Amino acid sequence: MKSSSETEVSQGPTASQSHSPKVPESPVTFSEALSATMERIRIKREERIRSAPPCAVCGTSILADEPSHSPDIEEWTLYNATHEKLCFKHFQVEYAKLKLSWRNEHADKSLIAAGVSEEFSNRSFENYRLTDSNKQFFTAVKNWAEHPRAFLAILSPYTGIGKTHLAIAALRCFYVDTGHFGKFRKEGPFLLDIRKGYSTYGTFAESDAIESLSKPDFLVYDDLFSSKEPQERIEFARRIALAVIDEREWQGRITVVTSNLTLSGIAAIDPRISSRLSGGLVLNVQSVDEDFRPKLYKSKTRFPNGSSPSMGED
Ligand SMILES: [Zn+2]
Repeated sequence: MKSSSETEVSQGPTASQSHSPKVPESPVTFSEALSATMERIRIKREERIRSAPPCAVCGTSILADEPSHSPDIEEWTLYNATHEKLCFKHFQVEYAKLKLSWRNEHADKSLIAAGVSEEFSNRSFENYRLTDSNKQFFTAVKNWAEHPRAFLAILSPYTGIGKTHLAIAALRCFYVDTGHFGKFRKEGPFLLDIRKGYSTYGTFAESDAIESLSKPDFLVYDDLFSSKEPQERIEFARRIALAVIDEREWQGRITVVTSNLTLSGIAAIDPRISSRLSGGLVLNVQSVDEDFRPKLYKSKTRFPNGSSPSMGED
């Protein structure tokens, strides 16, 4: 017998979640109770299939053919999001295309999940302000991001040339290609977090923090050795950066480092770090044309969330 709530179940992907099984009326044995439950599940499934909307391609119920393999989380999420349109079979035919547009649509969110601030989460290769002087620099980063491996060091004493912008664009590319979030950390706040953690957790805080940056498949370590701080803090930054970079090299993971220092400036702090970075692609940007900065600042008015021209982009 159907309850009234069951007969109301009709359209929509959430219909399947809206009712719970009833206790069998008079189960005698465990196996009778079990088969009664199985029968109710079968009937409910048939009801769901009958009431589900038709696939846009073949017209059969979108619930009629559920996956026979175990889809990964992304596949399931995407399938559920397109549920009202396609059966699983035709979803799979379209999967590659759907996946790409889904990831492009959700890339800003993926960047926020990776640790990029909301203000910077729209940065991409497409909205980078290209000029004659930065074209080579831009192209080098973009080509690397298409097949990222080992290290990419974006180094320049110039602020405003979009080091961070391009590093975030590379991280976005990685998400769209792989579906993995990666990680973005600015060195200053990262070190501050560790120092705060010290007072509570002692050395555990440090090793946990290093581990949190060692594990992601793709890391942007932004603004290496940026702080003009007392010597002991530089020493602290050096020790942490070396630990993170060493571990990532050892694990063969992809890392983008940005810094206001050149490679020799980094070598002066720790030659082991510059040597690891040299194992990848090092971009030393030594010169920009005179009106480069004003151009870049002007371009910021195009960013929808209206970030302040005096912030970021270093
Ligand atoms: Zn279909």
